[in-house]
Amino acid sequence: MNPDPKPILVIGGGIAGMTAAVEAAEVGYPVVLVEKEAFLGGRVIRSHKYFPKMCPPACGFEINVRRIRRNPRITVHTLATVEEITGKAGDFRARIRKKPRYVTGNVSLDDSVTEQLTSERPNDFNMDLDTTKALYYPHGAAYPPLHVLDREALSEADAATLTEVCPPGAIDLDMGEEEFAMDVGAVIVATGWRPYDAANLDNLGYGRCPNVVTNLMMERFAAPGGPTGGKILRPSDGTSPTNVAFVQCAGSRDENHLPYCSAVCCMASLKQARYIRESNEDAKITIFYIDIRTLGRLEKFYFDLLDDEKVTFVKGKVAEINEDPDSQELILEVEDTIAGEKPSPRFDMVVLATGIVPNTADSPIPINLEYDEYGFLDGATDVEGVYAAGCAKSPCDVSRATKESTAAALKAIQCVRRG
Ligand SMILES: Cc1cc2nc3c(=O)[nH]c(=O)nc-3n(C[C@H](O)[C@H](O)[C@H](O)COP(=O)(O)OP(=O)(O)OC[C@H]3O[C@@H](n4cnc5c(N)ncnc54)[C@H](O)[C@@H]3O)c2cc1C
Repeated sequence: MNPDPKPILVIGGGIAGMTAAVEAAEVGYPVVLVEKEAFLGGRVIRSHKYFPKMCPPACGFEINVRRIRRNPRITVHTLATVEEITGKAGDFRARIRKKPRYVTGNVSLDDSVTEQLTSERPNDFNMDLDTTKALYYPHGAAYPPLHVLDREALSEADAATLTEVCPPGAIDLDMGEEEFAMDVGAVIVATGWRPYDAANLDNLGYGRCPNVVTNLMMERFAAPGGPTGGKILRPSDGTSPTNVAFVQCAGSRDENHLPYCSAVCCMASLKQARYIRESNEDAKITIFYIDIRTLGRLEKFYFDLLDDEKVTFVKGKVAEINEDPDSQELILEVEDTIAGEKPSPRFDMVVLATGIVPNTADSPIPINLEYDEYGFLDGATDVEGVYAAGCAKSPCDVSRATKESTAAALKAIQCVRRG
Protein backbone atom coordinates (compact mmCIF):
# COMPACT_ATOMS: atom_id res chain seq x y z
CA MET A 1 0.00 0.00 0.00
CA ASN A 2 1.23 3.43 -0.98
CA PRO A 3 1.68 5.47 2.25
CA ASP A 4 1.53 8.80 0.38
CA PRO A 5 -1.20 8.51 -2.30
CA LYS A 6 -1.50 11.20 -4.95
CA PRO A 7 -4.76 13.15 -5.31
CA ILE A 8 -7.75 11.88 -7.26
CA LEU A 9 -8.64 14.13 -10.19
CA VAL A 10 -12.40 14.44 -10.79
CA ILE A 11 -13.36 16.02 -14.12
CA GLY A 12 -16.85 17.53 -14.05
CA GLY A 13 -18.64 19.13 -11.09
CA GLY A 14 -22.22 17.94 -11.63
CA ILE A 15 -23.96 15.61 -9.19
CA ALA A 16 -21.73 12.70 -10.27
CA GLY A 17 -18.43 14.58 -9.88
CA MET A 18 -19.45 16.28 -6.61
CA THR A 19 -20.49 12.93 -5.15
CA ALA A 20 -17.27 11.20 -6.20
CA ALA A 21 -15.25 14.08 -4.73
CA VAL A 22 -16.94 14.11 -1.32
CA GLU A 23 -17.04 10.33 -0.99
CA ALA A 24 -13.30 9.98 -1.69
CA ALA A 25 -12.34 13.00 0.44
CA GLU A 26 -14.42 11.86 3.40
CA VAL A 27 -12.46 8.58 3.46
CA GLY A 28 -9.34 10.71 3.73
CA TYR A 29 -8.04 11.12 0.17
CA PRO A 30 -7.10 14.41 -1.47
CA VAL A 31 -9.30 15.34 -4.43
CA VAL A 32 -9.01 17.97 -7.15
CA LEU A 33 -12.38 18.77 -8.73
CA VAL A 34 -12.23 20.50 -12.13
CA GLU A 35 -15.40 22.12 -13.53
CA LYS A 36 -15.58 24.02 -16.81
CA GLU A 37 -18.49 26.27 -15.83
CA ALA A 38 -18.24 29.07 -13.25
CA PHE A 39 -20.26 27.01 -10.72
CA LEU A 40 -20.84 23.43 -9.58
CA GLY A 41 -24.09 21.52 -9.97
CA GLY A 42 -24.21 20.59 -13.66
CA ARG A 43 -27.61 19.97 -15.24
CA VAL A 44 -29.43 19.07 -12.03
CA ILE A 45 -29.06 22.52 -10.47
CA ARG A 46 -30.81 23.89 -13.59
CA SER A 47 -33.97 21.86 -12.99
CA HIS A 48 -37.04 23.11 -11.14
CA LYS A 49 -37.63 19.98 -9.04
CA TYR A 50 -36.28 16.52 -9.30
CA PHE A 51 -38.10 13.24 -9.43
CA PRO A 52 -39.11 11.10 -7.69
CA LYS A 53 -39.27 13.18 -4.50
CA MET A 54 -40.11 16.44 -6.30
CA CYS A 55 -37.82 18.52 -4.11
CA PRO A 56 -35.93 21.53 -5.46
CA PRO A 57 -32.43 20.49 -6.56
CA ALA A 58 -30.86 23.08 -4.25
CA CYS A 59 -31.68 20.82 -1.23
CA GLY A 60 -29.36 17.94 -2.10
CA PHE A 61 -26.92 20.38 -3.69
CA GLU A 62 -26.53 22.42 -0.52
CA ILE A 63 -25.72 19.28 1.47
CA ASN A 64 -22.95 18.43 -1.01
CA VAL A 65 -21.66 22.01 -0.96
CA ARG A 66 -21.49 21.88 2.85
CA ARG A 67 -19.51 18.62 2.63
CA ILE A 68 -17.13 20.25 0.13
CA ARG A 69 -16.70 23.46 2.12
CA ARG A 70 -15.82 21.73 5.36
CA ASN A 71 -13.42 19.26 3.76
CA PRO A 72 -9.92 20.69 3.35
CA ARG A 73 -8.94 17.70 1.20
CA ILE A 74 -11.07 18.95 -1.73
CA THR A 75 -9.69 21.64 -4.04
CA VAL A 76 -12.26 23.03 -6.50
CA HIS A 77 -11.24 24.70 -9.76
CA THR A 78 -14.13 26.29 -11.69
CA LEU A 79 -13.90 27.77 -15.20
CA ALA A 80 -11.28 25.04 -15.63
CA THR A 81 -10.59 22.23 -18.07
CA VAL A 82 -8.04 19.45 -18.22
CA GLU A 83 -5.90 19.96 -21.30
CA GLU A 84 -3.66 16.90 -21.12
CA ILE A 85 -3.20 13.75 -19.05
CA THR A 86 -0.05 11.67 -19.34
CA GLY A 87 1.40 8.81 -17.29
CA LYS A 88 -0.16 5.70 -15.84
CA ALA A 89 -2.37 4.47 -12.99
CA GLY A 90 -1.10 5.82 -9.67
CA ASP A 91 1.20 8.28 -11.44
CA PHE A 92 -0.62 10.58 -13.89
CA ARG A 93 0.28 14.17 -14.68
CA ALA A 94 -2.57 16.51 -15.60
CA ARG A 95 -2.34 19.95 -17.18
CA ILE A 96 -5.20 22.23 -16.16
CA ARG A 97 -6.25 25.50 -17.75
CA LYS A 98 -8.40 28.08 -15.91
CA LYS A 99 -10.25 30.89 -17.63
CA PRO A 100 -10.31 34.24 -15.83
CA ARG A 101 -13.38 35.05 -13.73
CA TYR A 102 -12.27 38.73 -13.48
CA VAL A 103 -13.82 38.72 -9.98
CA THR A 104 -11.17 38.20 -7.33
CA GLY A 105 -13.40 36.96 -4.52
CA ASN A 106 -11.37 39.04 -2.05
CA VAL A 107 -14.13 41.63 -1.64
CA SER A 108 -17.84 40.85 -1.83
CA LEU A 109 -20.00 42.36 -4.55
CA ASP A 110 -23.74 42.92 -4.59
CA ASP A 111 -26.47 43.76 -7.08
CA SER A 112 -26.00 47.51 -6.59
CA VAL A 113 -22.90 47.13 -8.79
CA THR A 114 -24.50 45.02 -11.55
CA GLU A 115 -27.53 47.34 -11.70
CA GLN A 116 -25.32 50.19 -12.89
CA LEU A 117 -24.25 48.27 -16.02
CA THR A 118 -26.03 48.26 -19.35
CA SER A 119 -24.09 45.51 -21.21
CA GLU A 120 -25.96 42.22 -21.30
CA ARG A 121 -25.28 38.62 -22.28
CA PRO A 122 -27.53 35.62 -23.06
CA ASN A 123 -28.32 33.77 -19.84
CA ASP A 124 -27.14 30.24 -20.60
CA PHE A 125 -28.35 29.10 -17.15
CA ASN A 126 -31.87 29.82 -18.46
CA MET A 127 -31.24 28.21 -21.87
CA ASP A 128 -30.65 31.70 -23.35
CA LEU A 129 -34.33 32.51 -22.79
CA ASP A 130 -33.40 35.78 -21.09
CA THR A 131 -30.29 37.83 -20.41
CA THR A 132 -28.08 38.84 -17.49
CA LYS A 133 -25.82 41.84 -17.06
CA ALA A 134 -22.20 41.27 -18.16
CA LEU A 135 -21.29 41.01 -14.46
CA TYR A 136 -23.63 38.39 -13.06
CA TYR A 137 -24.27 35.94 -10.23
CA PRO A 138 -24.80 32.60 -11.98
CA HIS A 139 -27.82 31.47 -9.94
CA GLY A 140 -29.29 31.72 -6.43
CA ALA A 141 -27.48 28.69 -4.97
CA ALA A 142 -24.20 29.22 -6.85
CA TYR A 143 -21.05 27.62 -5.50
CA PRO A 144 -18.51 29.10 -5.33
CA PRO A 145 -20.68 32.04 -4.23
CA LEU A 146 -19.05 34.52 -6.57
CA HIS A 147 -20.06 36.78 -9.43
CA VAL A 148 -18.55 36.23 -12.89
CA LEU A 149 -17.70 38.82 -15.50
CA ASP A 150 -18.30 38.11 -19.18
CA ARG A 151 -15.44 40.27 -20.44
CA GLU A 152 -16.46 39.97 -24.10
CA ALA A 153 -19.95 41.25 -23.36
CA LEU A 154 -18.68 44.23 -21.30
CA SER A 155 -18.73 47.57 -23.14
CA GLU A 156 -15.92 50.10 -22.70
CA ALA A 157 -18.32 52.42 -20.88
CA ASP A 158 -19.32 49.65 -18.45
CA ALA A 159 -15.65 48.75 -17.90
CA ALA A 160 -15.12 52.36 -16.79
CA THR A 161 -18.23 52.19 -14.55
CA LEU A 162 -16.94 49.02 -12.90
CA THR A 163 -13.57 50.60 -12.19
CA GLU A 164 -15.37 53.52 -10.62
CA VAL A 165 -18.06 51.79 -8.55
CA CYS A 166 -16.52 48.45 -7.49
CA PRO A 167 -14.81 48.31 -4.10
CA PRO A 168 -11.03 48.34 -4.61
CA GLY A 169 -9.63 44.89 -5.32
CA ALA A 170 -13.01 43.32 -6.19
CA ILE A 171 -12.53 43.16 -9.97
CA ASP A 172 -9.40 42.62 -12.04
CA LEU A 173 -10.16 43.52 -15.66
CA ASP A 174 -6.69 42.33 -16.70
CA MET A 175 -6.94 38.90 -15.09
CA GLY A 176 -5.38 36.35 -17.43
CA GLU A 177 -5.75 32.66 -18.13
CA GLU A 178 -3.88 30.35 -15.74
CA GLU A 179 -2.25 27.05 -16.59
CA PHE A 180 -0.64 24.59 -14.20
CA ALA A 181 0.27 20.91 -14.02
CA MET A 182 -0.17 18.49 -11.15
CA ASP A 183 0.49 14.86 -10.27
CA VAL A 184 -2.61 12.76 -9.65
CA GLY A 185 -3.01 9.07 -8.92
CA ALA A 186 -6.40 8.35 -10.54
CA VAL A 187 -8.95 10.13 -12.71
CA ILE A 188 -12.76 10.09 -12.48
CA VAL A 189 -14.55 11.28 -15.62
CA ALA A 190 -17.92 12.84 -14.69
CA THR A 191 -18.36 15.23 -17.60
CA GLY A 192 -22.08 14.51 -18.02
CA TRP A 193 -24.31 15.40 -20.90
CA ARG A 194 -25.88 18.02 -23.11
CA PRO A 195 -29.37 17.90 -24.66
CA TYR A 196 -29.80 16.56 -28.17
CA ASP A 197 -30.00 19.58 -30.47
CA ALA A 198 -33.70 20.14 -31.14
CA ALA A 199 -32.79 22.21 -34.22
CA ASN A 200 -32.35 18.81 -35.92
CA LEU A 201 -36.05 18.08 -35.29
CA ASP A 202 -37.50 20.42 -37.88
CA ASN A 203 -40.37 18.00 -38.57
CA LEU A 204 -41.44 18.50 -34.94
CA GLY A 205 -41.64 22.26 -35.41
CA TYR A 206 -38.75 23.33 -33.20
CA GLY A 207 -37.48 26.70 -34.41
CA ARG A 208 -40.48 27.03 -36.79
CA CYS A 209 -43.24 27.16 -34.20
CA PRO A 210 -42.61 29.31 -31.09
CA ASN A 211 -44.93 27.19 -28.94
CA VAL A 212 -42.84 24.06 -29.48
CA VAL A 213 -40.34 23.99 -26.62
CA THR A 214 -37.93 21.41 -25.21
CA ASN A 215 -38.02 19.64 -21.86
CA LEU A 216 -35.00 21.64 -20.68
CA MET A 217 -36.76 24.89 -21.53
CA MET A 218 -39.76 23.64 -19.53
CA GLU A 219 -37.51 23.11 -16.48
CA ARG A 220 -36.51 26.76 -16.66
CA PHE A 221 -40.06 28.05 -17.33
CA ALA A 222 -41.25 26.25 -14.19
CA ALA A 223 -38.35 27.41 -11.99
CA PRO A 224 -38.82 30.56 -9.85
CA GLY A 225 -35.40 31.79 -11.07
CA GLY A 226 -36.35 31.12 -14.69
CA PRO A 227 -37.13 33.58 -17.48
CA THR A 228 -40.83 33.81 -16.59
CA GLY A 229 -40.33 33.85 -12.81
CA GLY A 230 -41.76 30.33 -12.50
CA LYS A 231 -44.90 30.88 -14.59
CA ILE A 232 -45.43 28.35 -17.37
CA LEU A 233 -46.51 30.52 -20.30
CA ARG A 234 -46.98 30.04 -24.02
CA PRO A 235 -43.95 31.70 -25.66
CA SER A 236 -46.01 33.23 -28.51
CA ASP A 237 -48.40 35.31 -26.40
CA GLY A 238 -47.52 34.81 -22.71
CA THR A 239 -50.85 33.12 -21.88
CA SER A 240 -51.15 30.13 -19.57
CA PRO A 241 -51.47 27.01 -21.78
CA THR A 242 -54.53 24.85 -21.08
CA ASN A 243 -53.89 22.06 -23.57
CA VAL A 244 -50.32 20.78 -23.64
CA ALA A 245 -48.75 17.80 -25.45
CA PHE A 246 -45.54 15.99 -24.59
CA VAL A 247 -43.76 14.25 -27.46
CA GLN A 248 -41.66 11.41 -26.09
CA CYS A 249 -38.52 10.08 -27.78
CA ALA A 250 -38.05 13.39 -29.64
CA GLY A 251 -34.87 12.28 -31.37
CA SER A 252 -34.22 9.31 -29.05
CA ARG A 253 -34.67 5.68 -30.16
CA ASP A 254 -34.52 6.97 -33.71
CA GLU A 255 -31.90 5.78 -36.20
CA ASN A 256 -31.80 9.27 -37.76
CA HIS A 257 -30.93 10.94 -34.47
CA LEU A 258 -30.05 9.07 -31.23
CA PRO A 259 -30.59 5.32 -31.67
CA TYR A 260 -30.52 4.70 -27.91
CA CYS A 261 -33.03 5.34 -25.11
CA SER A 262 -32.04 8.37 -23.01
CA ALA A 263 -33.43 6.64 -19.89
CA VAL A 264 -34.83 9.70 -18.09
CA CYS A 265 -37.14 11.45 -20.59
CA CYS A 266 -40.29 9.52 -19.62
CA MET A 267 -39.83 10.38 -15.96
CA ALA A 268 -38.91 13.97 -16.88
CA SER A 269 -42.15 14.42 -18.87
CA LEU A 270 -44.28 12.83 -16.13
CA LYS A 271 -42.66 15.26 -13.70
CA GLN A 272 -43.25 18.23 -16.01
CA ALA A 273 -46.89 17.20 -16.55
CA ARG A 274 -47.20 17.67 -12.79
CA TYR A 275 -45.62 21.12 -13.01
CA ILE A 276 -48.31 22.14 -15.50
CA ARG A 277 -51.18 20.55 -13.60
CA GLU A 278 -50.00 22.24 -10.39
CA SER A 279 -49.74 25.64 -12.06
CA ASN A 280 -53.13 25.44 -13.82
CA GLU A 281 -55.77 23.06 -12.51
CA ASP A 282 -57.77 23.33 -15.74
CA ALA A 283 -54.86 22.34 -17.96
CA LYS A 284 -55.17 19.12 -19.98
CA ILE A 285 -52.09 17.09 -20.85
CA THR A 286 -51.58 14.48 -23.57
CA ILE A 287 -48.42 12.39 -23.58
CA PHE A 288 -47.52 10.73 -26.90
CA TYR A 289 -45.19 7.80 -26.29
CA ILE A 290 -43.65 4.69 -27.83
CA ASP A 291 -43.25 2.93 -24.47
CA ILE A 292 -43.36 4.50 -21.03
CA ARG A 293 -40.12 3.51 -19.32
CA THR A 294 -40.32 3.98 -15.55
CA LEU A 295 -38.32 1.22 -13.97
CA GLY A 296 -38.69 -0.27 -10.50
CA ARG A 297 -40.16 1.97 -7.85
CA LEU A 298 -40.42 4.85 -10.31
CA GLU A 299 -43.50 3.13 -11.76
CA LYS A 300 -45.57 4.52 -8.88
CA PHE A 301 -44.87 8.01 -10.21
CA TYR A 302 -46.42 6.95 -13.53
CA PHE A 303 -49.40 5.16 -11.91
CA ASP A 304 -50.19 8.23 -9.81
CA LEU A 305 -50.43 10.34 -12.96
CA LEU A 306 -52.63 7.71 -14.65
CA ASP A 307 -55.20 8.48 -11.96
CA ASP A 308 -55.39 12.12 -13.09
CA GLU A 309 -58.36 12.36 -15.47
CA LYS A 310 -56.88 15.45 -17.13
CA VAL A 311 -53.81 13.50 -18.26
CA THR A 312 -54.15 11.25 -21.34
CA PHE A 313 -51.57 8.81 -22.67
CA VAL A 314 -51.56 8.05 -26.41
CA LYS A 315 -49.30 5.32 -27.79
CA GLY A 316 -48.00 6.67 -31.06
CA LYS A 317 -44.94 8.39 -32.49
CA VAL A 318 -45.53 11.97 -33.60
CA ALA A 319 -44.43 12.36 -37.23
CA GLU A 320 -44.91 16.07 -37.81
CA ILE A 321 -45.99 19.28 -36.08
CA ASN A 322 -47.31 22.36 -37.88
CA GLU A 323 -48.74 25.62 -36.69
CA ASP A 324 -52.15 27.14 -37.40
CA PRO A 325 -50.98 30.65 -38.40
CA ASP A 326 -54.12 32.32 -37.02
CA SER A 327 -54.28 30.79 -33.54
CA GLN A 328 -50.65 29.61 -33.32
CA GLU A 329 -52.10 26.30 -32.17
CA LEU A 330 -50.00 23.27 -32.99
CA ILE A 331 -51.42 20.52 -35.17
CA LEU A 332 -49.88 17.09 -34.66
CA GLU A 333 -49.65 14.29 -37.20
CA VAL A 334 -49.70 11.08 -35.22
CA GLU A 335 -51.04 7.57 -35.34
CA ASP A 336 -52.81 6.35 -32.20
CA THR A 337 -51.62 2.74 -32.50
CA ILE A 338 -54.02 1.36 -29.86
CA ALA A 339 -57.17 3.01 -31.24
CA GLY A 340 -55.96 2.45 -34.82
CA GLU A 341 -56.77 6.05 -35.70
CA LYS A 342 -54.84 8.90 -37.29
CA PRO A 343 -56.16 12.03 -35.61
CA SER A 344 -54.73 15.55 -36.07
CA PRO A 345 -55.05 16.88 -32.53
CA ARG A 346 -54.40 20.54 -31.68
CA PHE A 347 -52.52 21.93 -28.70
CA ASP A 348 -51.56 25.32 -27.22
CA MET A 349 -48.03 24.19 -26.49
CA VAL A 350 -45.86 21.13 -27.20
CA VAL A 351 -42.90 19.93 -25.12
CA LEU A 352 -40.30 17.84 -26.95
CA ALA A 353 -38.70 15.23 -24.70
CA THR A 354 -35.24 15.52 -26.19
CA GLY A 355 -32.57 13.09 -25.06
CA ILE A 356 -29.08 12.95 -23.63
CA VAL A 357 -25.82 13.27 -25.59
CA PRO A 358 -22.55 12.71 -23.70
CA ASN A 359 -20.29 15.78 -23.57
CA THR A 360 -17.46 13.41 -24.48
CA ALA A 361 -19.08 12.88 -27.92
CA ASP A 362 -17.41 16.07 -29.14
CA SER A 363 -15.00 16.92 -26.29
CA PRO A 364 -13.09 13.73 -25.49
CA ILE A 365 -10.94 13.49 -22.36
CA PRO A 366 -7.32 14.28 -23.31
CA ILE A 367 -5.99 10.77 -22.74
CA ASN A 368 -6.53 7.91 -25.10
CA LEU A 369 -9.81 6.28 -23.95
CA GLU A 370 -12.19 4.02 -25.80
CA TYR A 371 -15.74 5.36 -26.18
CA ASP A 372 -18.81 3.53 -27.42
CA GLU A 373 -20.20 4.53 -30.81
CA TYR A 374 -22.19 7.41 -29.26
CA GLY A 375 -19.35 8.86 -27.17
CA PHE A 376 -20.22 7.32 -23.77
CA LEU A 377 -17.52 5.74 -21.59
CA ASP A 378 -19.77 2.74 -20.99
CA GLY A 379 -18.39 -0.04 -18.80
CA ALA A 380 -14.87 0.12 -17.41
CA THR A 381 -12.55 2.43 -19.33
CA ASP A 382 -9.69 0.69 -21.06
CA VAL A 383 -7.07 2.77 -19.21
CA GLU A 384 -6.31 1.55 -15.69
CA GLY A 385 -6.74 4.34 -13.18
CA VAL A 386 -9.44 6.17 -15.19
CA TYR A 387 -13.06 5.58 -14.12
CA ALA A 388 -16.33 7.02 -15.45
CA ALA A 389 -19.50 7.95 -13.57
CA GLY A 390 -22.92 9.48 -14.22
CA CYS A 391 -24.08 10.45 -17.70
CA ALA A 392 -20.51 10.34 -19.04
CA LYS A 393 -20.95 6.59 -18.71
CA SER A 394 -24.53 6.21 -19.95
CA PRO A 395 -27.80 8.14 -19.64
CA CYS A 396 -29.03 7.92 -16.05
CA ASP A 397 -30.97 9.65 -13.31
CA VAL A 398 -29.50 11.25 -10.19
CA SER A 399 -29.96 8.17 -8.06
CA ARG A 400 -27.89 6.03 -10.42
CA ALA A 401 -25.34 8.80 -11.00
CA THR A 402 -24.62 9.03 -7.26
CA LYS A 403 -24.27 5.25 -6.87
CA GLU A 404 -21.89 5.05 -9.82
CA SER A 405 -19.86 7.96 -8.48
CA THR A 406 -19.46 6.27 -5.13
CA ALA A 407 -18.31 3.12 -6.95
CA ALA A 408 -15.89 5.17 -9.07
CA ALA A 409 -14.53 6.84 -5.89
CA LEU A 410 -13.85 3.40 -4.41
CA LYS A 411 -12.04 2.22 -7.57
CA ALA A 412 -9.98 5.43 -7.57
CA ILE A 413 -9.08 4.97 -3.88
CA GLN A 414 -7.93 1.41 -4.59
CA CYS A 415 -5.83 2.72 -7.47
CA VAL A 416 -4.08 5.50 -5.53
CA ARG A 417 -3.50 3.16 -2.55
CA ARG A 418 -1.77 0.67 -4.84
CA GLY A 419 0.33 3.61 -6.08
C1 LIG B 1 -35.36 17.16 -18.99
C2 LIG B 1 -34.60 16.38 -17.96
C3 LIG B 1 -35.03 16.40 -16.64
C4 LIG B 1 -34.37 15.61 -15.69
N1 LIG B 1 -34.87 15.57 -14.44
C5 LIG B 1 -34.36 14.70 -13.55
C6 LIG B 1 -34.97 14.52 -12.28
O1 LIG B 1 -35.98 15.18 -11.96
N2 LIG B 1 -34.45 13.59 -11.43
C7 LIG B 1 -33.35 12.84 -11.76
O2 LIG B 1 -32.93 11.97 -10.97
N3 LIG B 1 -32.71 13.01 -12.96
C8 LIG B 1 -33.20 13.92 -13.85
N4 LIG B 1 -32.59 14.08 -15.06
C9 LIG B 1 -31.29 13.41 -15.29
C10 LIG B 1 -30.16 14.24 -14.63
O3 LIG B 1 -30.06 15.50 -15.29
C11 LIG B 1 -28.83 13.47 -14.74
O4 LIG B 1 -28.97 12.26 -13.99
C12 LIG B 1 -27.67 14.25 -14.11
O5 LIG B 1 -27.49 15.49 -14.75
C13 LIG B 1 -26.37 13.43 -14.23
O6 LIG B 1 -25.34 14.14 -13.59
P1 LIG B 1 -23.84 14.18 -14.16
O7 LIG B 1 -23.03 14.78 -13.08
O8 LIG B 1 -23.48 12.85 -14.68
O9 LIG B 1 -23.88 15.15 -15.42
P2 LIG B 1 -24.11 16.74 -15.53
O10 LIG B 1 -25.25 17.17 -14.72
O11 LIG B 1 -24.17 17.00 -17.01
O12 LIG B 1 -22.79 17.37 -14.95
C14 LIG B 1 -21.57 17.30 -15.64
C15 LIG B 1 -20.69 18.46 -15.25
O13 LIG B 1 -19.41 18.32 -15.92
C16 LIG B 1 -19.03 19.58 -16.46
N5 LIG B 1 -18.14 19.33 -17.60
C17 LIG B 1 -18.46 18.85 -18.82
N6 LIG B 1 -17.35 18.71 -19.58
C18 LIG B 1 -16.31 19.11 -18.82
C19 LIG B 1 -14.91 19.19 -19.05
N7 LIG B 1 -14.37 18.81 -20.20
N8 LIG B 1 -14.12 19.65 -18.06
C20 LIG B 1 -14.65 20.03 -16.86
N9 LIG B 1 -15.99 19.98 -16.59
C21 LIG B 1 -16.80 19.51 -17.55
C22 LIG B 1 -20.34 20.23 -16.84
O14 LIG B 1 -20.19 21.64 -16.95
C23 LIG B 1 -21.24 19.81 -15.67
O15 LIG B 1 -21.14 20.71 -14.59
C24 LIG B 1 -33.23 14.85 -16.05
C25 LIG B 1 -32.77 14.86 -17.37
C26 LIG B 1 -33.48 15.59 -18.33
C27 LIG B 1 -33.06 15.51 -19.75
